[in-house]
Parts: sequence; structure tokens; C-alpha cells
Amino acid sequence: MSFDRVTLPAESIPVSRNVDVVVVGGGASGIAAAISAAANGADTLLIEQRGFLGGMGTVSLVPAFCPFTDKEKPIIRGIGLELMDRMKQACNADYRKEYEHTLDWVPIDPEILKRVYDDAALENGVSLLFHTFVYDVVLSQDKRNIEGIVIVNKSGRSIVRCKYVIDATGDADISALAGVPFQKGGEQGELQPGTMCYLLANVDRRQFHAFLKETGDTEQLHATVERAIADGALPEGRKSISGLAWVNDYLVGVNFGHVFGVDGTKAEDLTRGSIEGRRLAERQVRFFRDFVPGFEQAHMVASGEQLGIRETRRIQGDYVLTAEDFMEARSFEDDIARNAYYIDIHLANSKGNMTFTHLPPGKSHGVPYRVLLPIGIDNMWVPGRAASSDRAVQGSLRVMPNCFAMGQASGAAAAMALKTLATSRGVSVSRLRELLLEQGAWLGEAHSYEAAKPSNA
Ligand SMILES: Cc1cc2nc3c(=O)[nH]c(=O)nc-3n(C[C@H](O)[C@H](O)[C@H](O)COP(=O)(O)OP(=O)(O)OC[C@H]3O[C@@H](n4cnc5c(N)ncnc54)[C@H](O)[C@@H]3O)c2cc1C
Repeated sequence: MSFDRVTLPAESIPVSRNVDVVVVGGGASGIAAAISAAANGADTLLIEQRGFLGGMGTVSLVPAFCPFTDKEKPIIRGIGLELMDRMKQACNADYRKEYEHTLDWVPIDPEILKRVYDDAALENGVSLLFHTFVYDVVLSQDKRNIEGIVIVNKSGRSIVRCKYVIDATGDADISALAGVPFQKGGEQGELQPGTMCYLLANVDRRQFHAFLKETGDTEQLHATVERAIADGALPEGRKSISGLAWVNDYLVGVNFGHVFGVDGTKAEDLTRGSIEGRRLAERQVRFFRDFVPGFEQAHMVASGEQLGIRETRRIQGDYVLTAEDFMEARSFEDDIARNAYYIDIHLANSKGNMTFTHLPPGKSHGVPYRVLLPIGIDNMWVPGRAASSDRAVQGSLRVMPNCFAMGQASGAAAAMALKTLATSRGVSVSRLRELLLEQGAWLGEAHSYEAAKPSNA
């Protein structure tokens, strides 16, 4: 198909707002960034294209939070841990009893999480603007600063002027508009597949667990899935149903199966992904009903508004975190977070293999401040799925607890920069690290806030 081009007349666009910090994207990284910037004194606006916060965790119904621990202790703390705890407190007594002390793979109740995020953002003084898409940026003459972003919503087109920007779109949309170099996927342009996650009601966890115990078919349910593939009840591809997150005995979130060849920065691909994803989910529900004890009456109550997207752009930052940094559990002088989640790269096509690489329990590597700093721009941070790393490390860094931690650091840095009118690179990283420790983050054994406090002796 070929498209003609049409030149629109030059248009003067009104300035609708003037803020210190604009955060684009309300996923894990954007929520933490906005709360952190506002709590540290910046007039902060968070813009989100959907009508609620949560990104993949609510938009795409990703059913659980990945581990906050290194299998020995919590290493993601601060705002992310507080938000997860608030979600637990907002759930009913049964949920709290079961998950109160769990820090790894905590199931998400998406409707409760949306309300928790609204309240936490507003209580901390964040201004929210939903149903709004950012589609352009206004650059300074030397192109090193973003002076405003161009938005479109039901009220029309307008410009939000800002001193600093946090690109938490997960796809590095703002960075791409500003000309930041990036990479997308693997060397052949291959991308991890998407998954249409969904919630099933009317299921019976006790019966399901009894079946697992009886068959010895453990968590992966491999044999059952293989049988269904052989029978043609399921397509070829992912064989494990490890992604079951039980909100209660009768409601389960499902992350199972793949949709291949979807580039989440293209509307046409996302459209196909939604349609294929829903079709696959429907087939899976029939499989669950026919093959899996406890699921005979399963009823799908919701599927993701969008196909879950694991990877698109990775910005090129001042530092590119590598698989070697991960494997050697390296630390950096400018660490603003630690990561222990395994490298988890999903197959790019139905014949491919999954890649998993774990660090030993108790080990983590540092996430340096420089991975948040996009090359060529002086007043922007990029936390979250699109932060600067190689492809292997993105397969680990991308999970929600890490996104919270990178977001918190970006927001705190923006608020600090504002106070001294500094660039993102002009922020005192040692002071930033102190501030993060004061505000609950964890930067390794040697750097706890308690350890840093002056002793009375
Ligand atoms: C199928 C799947 C399963 C996963 N499983 C887990 C898991 O079990 N546990 C876990 O912790 N992580 C999991 N992850 C990873 C994790 O969910 C994401 O990587 C993480 O949510 C990324 O956070 P983010 O803030 O960078 O981006 P996102 O969560 O994608 O949030 C970005 C937000 O920005 C908004 N946005 C984007 N562009 C614009 C624009 N131009 N204008 C306005 N708004 C915009 C989007 O609407 C979205 O709300 C999974 C991911 C997928 C896809």
C-alpha cells in the first residue's frame, strides 16, 4: 500500500500548561518517577494515554509483580515496595493473610491497583492528565533540551512547557522524537513476543492443586500442554503455564502463550496483536476447560486492553549495561538501584527457545545512573523498559520492581536538578544516592541509610 503525503498548514498551538517536570507514561517507572519528583518539591505532571495508571500491570493485565528480593532479602525497596504493600492492604483479609509477607511473584488485583496508584499519585501532589497522547517535542535551538511536549486529547492539541522530562513510555517515544539513538530488539530486528494476559473467574484452585499433586505434573503443566498441542487444541509455542497468579481461590490471572512479530511502536502491529491475542486467549480458555481440572467452569472476565509488550526500543545512554555486568554482579560508583531478576528472554518465533540466566541467591548487580541519561539530551531521564542496556540485560531489567526503582531515581534526580537549575548530568550523584537511601531505596549492603547515619558513639 502506498500513501500520498499531505502538507498541513503551519499552525500555532496553545500552551496548556507550564510545569517543572513532565512525566510521560503511567506504568511502574512513570508512577514512581512522578511520585518521587513531586514528593521532592517539583511541580509534576504525569501524562498517560489511558484512563488509569499501571502500564503493563493494568493495561495488559500482567498478573504478578516479579520478585522484589534477591531470594534472601528485599533489594527493591522505597516507592515500589510501598506501592505493592498498599495494594496488599487494600485487598481483602483472605488476600492479606495469604500474601502479606510475600515479596516475590505477588498477584496483582488490577482494579485495586488502579485505585492505589491514583491515590498515591494525588496524595504526593502529582497532577494527572489521562486520555492524552504525546506525539511531538519542542527542542531548544541547539537541540539538547526539550522545552515542551506536544499533546493531543479531546480538548485538542496543545503544548506542555517543562523544565525537565521523564520519558517513561516504555517505548522511548519521547527519546525517539527528540532524536536520541536507540536499538530495537536483536541483531536481525527480532523482538520478544507479546502476550495477551487475562483474568479467569469461576476456577477452583484447590481442585487444580490436587491435580498437580496427584499427577506430579508440577507447576509447568508441561505434559498437559504438550498433549493439547499434539491434539491441535493449542498452537505450537510456549509449553509452560508458569504464569498463573491466584488472586483468590476462584480468580486467577494468566500469562500464557505468545503472539509473534509484533513491534509495539507500530499501531498496525498492535492492532494485529490485539486481535490475534484475543483469538489465542479464547482458544486457551477452551483448553483450560477441557484439559485442566479445576478450570471446567472457567469464565474470562477481562483480557488486556493491549497485547503485553516485552521489548521495543532501548535508548543509547551514557552507559550501556551489559550481560557481563550482570554475570559478574558488578557495582558502579553511580548506582541508583540493584537488580537480581534473571535474564528472561522469550522466544522470537514458535520454534525458538527461551533464555534464562540466574544470579546466585543473595547476589545482585548495580544499575548506574548513566543508563537513565539519553545521549544528546540534557534535561531528560529514561527509566523503565527502555533504559540503556544490551538486549540480554533488558530481558532482566524490564520487570516492574526494577522499573519502580529506576523511576524513583529519575524523579529524585529531576527534583534535585530543578533546585540548582542543573542539567541531568550536572546532578550530584553522591547526593542523589544519599537522598534515595533516605527515602527508602536500597543500594547494597555497604550503603544502607542506617549504615550511613552518624553514630552517637
Ligand atoms: C506478557 C508480559 C508479562 C510480564 N510479566 C511480568 C511479571 O510477571 N512481573 C513483572 O514485574 N513484570 C512483568 N513484565 C514486564 C513489565 O510488566 C514491563 O516491562 C513493565 O511494566 C515496564 O514498565 P514501564 O513503566 O517501563 O512501561 P509500561 O508499563 O509499558 O508503561 C508505559 C506507559 O506509558 C504509556 N504511554 C506510552 N506511550 C505514550 C505516549 N506517547 N503518550 C502517552 N502515554 C504513553 C502507556 O499507555 C503505559 O501506560 C511482563 C511484561 C509482559 C509484556
